Amino acid sequence: MPAASLARRLESHRAALSRCRSCGDLVAGAVPIVSMARNPRVVLVGQAPGQIEKTSQRPFAGRAGKTLFGWLAQAGLTEDDARERIYIAAITRCYPGPSPSGRGDRVPSATEQKLCSRWLGAELALIKPGVIIPVGRLAIDRFLGKLPLEQVIGTERVMKLHDFETSVIALPHPSGASSWIHGSGHAELLSTAVDLLRVRLSQTLYL
Ligand code: SF4
Repeated sequence: MPAASLARRLESHRAALSRCRSCGDLVAGAVPIVSMARNPRVVLVGQAPGQIEKTSQRPFAGRAGKTLFGWLAQAGLTEDDARERIYIAAITRCYPGPSPSGRGDRVPSATEQKLCSRWLGAELALIKPGVIIPVGRLAIDRFLGKLPLEQVIGTERVMKLHDFETSVIALPHPSGASSWIHGSGHAELLSTAVDLLRVRLSQTLYL
């Protein structure tokens, strides 16, 4: 799709997504967080925004974002570049509130995930990304199935989605609530994933 046409269609997609209140009472005070990337060729999919993202209206604006953009910087993209050239989506787009356990945010329910999935479906169909970066368990499950992270992080899967082919390179969740990164050998798997991203992003975004 020509760049101007994609930018126009993403603009109207963003406007519709911003108005979504489909979750009703399931998500108190729902405010969808949208990516401002105009001509993306890559889609990154997180879990759900947090309180900081809700306040700032920017995806990955908090501490987890600092870690994530640090990994992307190692792969060759500054944060500004990444926000401009990577469409940052999520499994659900509104802050789900705190976890009942008091540790981290509530995981969006299966109903919320299902209600929200149409937005991601529409974005993938519009953008037809050359690279998809699922970040964290829920997003990895969506694209690669429920495999242990050790079998997923540090790999690249080429797959056909609808009418386009894409490379899927997963990252662990960068929030402090996830302890996976500190497991034995996991830093090396993460480093391999960043190396794979560096190669694939440079080919896809002409870095
Ligand atoms: S989580 Fe998704 S489906 Fe639910 S209100 Fe927000 S944007 Fe709409």
